Amino acid sequence: MKPDRIVKGTLGPYPAPEVADAEIVELAQQAPALCRLEVIGRSTEGRPLHALRIAAPASAGERPCLLVTAHIHAIEFIGAYVARAVAQRLVGGFGTTAHITDLLQRAEVWVVPLLNPDGAARVWSSAGWTRLGSARFTAQGVDPNRNFPFVETGGRRGWNSGRDKPGSAYYRGPHPLSEPECLALARLCKRQRFCAAVNFHSFGGVIFLPEVRGPDSTKARHVLGTFEGPFQEHQSLRRYRPVHERSAAIIGQLDPFLLYAFGTPSVTVEVSRPGSYVLLPWNLLRIFWWANPMRPDAWVENDAGATIHALIELLERSGGEPCTPALPELAKQVC
Ligand SMILES: [Zn+2]
Repeated sequence: MKPDRIVKGTLGPYPAPEVADAEIVELAQQAPALCRLEVIGRSTEGRPLHALRIAAPASAGERPCLLVTAHIHAIEFIGAYVARAVAQRLVGGFGTTAHITDLLQRAEVWVVPLLNPDGAARVWSSAGWTRLGSARFTAQGVDPNRNFPFVETGGRRGWNSGRDKPGSAYYRGPHPLSEPECLALARLCKRQRFCAAVNFHSFGGVIFLPEVRGPDSTKARHVLGTFEGPFQEHQSLRRYRPVHERSAAIIGQLDPFLLYAFGTPSVTVEVSRPGSYVLLPWNLLRIFWWANPMRPDAWVENDAGATIHALIELLERSGGEPCTPALPELAKQVC
């Protein structure tokens, strides 16, 4: 068997971030009746943050909104790869696939496939050679998934909780929403009041669910339960294991922020598991090939369709409305 090797100077099957971004712009242009592309903000280095809204043309009235995000951590190219596939399948399936047509008639699906374009560009330019911190950071050296507002609660912090020390791989920044990328997403979420959110990360083949609390916990648990069976039923290659997180353990993450501030049940899907190719000597020290599978299309097969089914289930279970937020004061930090 031939070992998996990649051509020097490329990241194998993964396009450069600007090429990936152009794919999304092109998709929006190909289906103007279904798609609206919005620049929700700009990164520190000035790159656009694209949100693609996909929905059937509607005469009037507001429809429930669902959110899919990816690539908040610089190195996690596979998440964006799957998010783009979800967008492509939604657009391509409208009018030809009944459950997709129905979903897009009943709801708007918002896809933000590249939340950390500066970090992605940095990883790309280093051909995937990077330290752990740089594998996560924005241009300002902040872990963007520790940069969201939170409320201090008792309980032991996890080893990977947001840190106050610059240089730490989990540095949470000088203050919540210091990163323009996080602020742009928070503003979008405040405006759209998503009834649920799915955030693609990598790797490990698990799903992290935030701790539920507050006045609407029964509903929030029910909505999040989509990822404790219904999602997995549609995964053909590997079914991801749900893992419940304590909110005190990790401060500054997106999932608890969305749930507590806006009542949006939100999960982290850790796409893919590394194959044995990472144990080959030329891959062993390269975090890129731990975080991103050599054959991303297999994981698209595993996860893209399952995500679309999950979006339908999330719409059903939420009744098209977010929950009553447990900590609405957190939303006031978004302005
Ligand atoms: Zn991540």
